[in-house]
Amino acid sequence: MKTGSFIHNPKLRSFLLKFFGQKNFFWKLITPLLKLQKNMKGECIFCKIVSGEINSKKVYENEKVVAFHDINPQAPVHILVIPKKHIEKITDLGDSEEDKEILYEITKACKIIANQMKIAERGFRIVVNTNPEGGQTVYHLHFHIIGGRQMRWPPG
Ligand code: 5GP
Ligand code: ZN
Repeated sequence: MKTGSFIHNPKLRSFLLKFFGQKNFFWKLITPLLKLQKNMKGECIFCKIVSGEINSKKVYENEKVVAFHDINPQAPVHILVIPKKHIEKITDLGDSEEDKEILYEITKACKIIANQMKIAERGFRIVVNTNPEGGQTVYHLHFHIIGGRQMRWPPG
């Protein structure tokens, strides 16, 4: 095989054109890398956002939770609400008073933020992607608040 001849391969060329021709090709590249991330507390992106090690555009914070703009918004309003405590996913929430309080604070924050972002009356969606088939890529519990446009169903 001659050097560089692979680019003349019609199948590969059409794949590359399709892939890089898309507006969100960067995210298609980065998503598998995000999925490969180590999700231990020390390596968790969202724990680093809580500690301030990674910058974020915060919209709400209290003792238990923090909320910030998603880095790759899927709608005019796209906010993530997370517990400050590292909890991997919603199915890891237990019956402890602390976990009950965290869930209450997250839902309370969703209501406050929806009002703050002026989408409460128009309508909005709360999404909690869970595990691979649920589309979860960051294994630190987060509630997506998505709004500012008409939502579709089924979500796909
Ligand atoms: P999931 O796919 O796990 O439901 O959602 C993870 C979300 O986190 C995605 O919407 C992604 O855009 C967002 N995200 C990933 N890394 C960062 C980051 O460093 N900062 C912010 N603000 N959002 C992030
Ligand atoms: Zn974490």
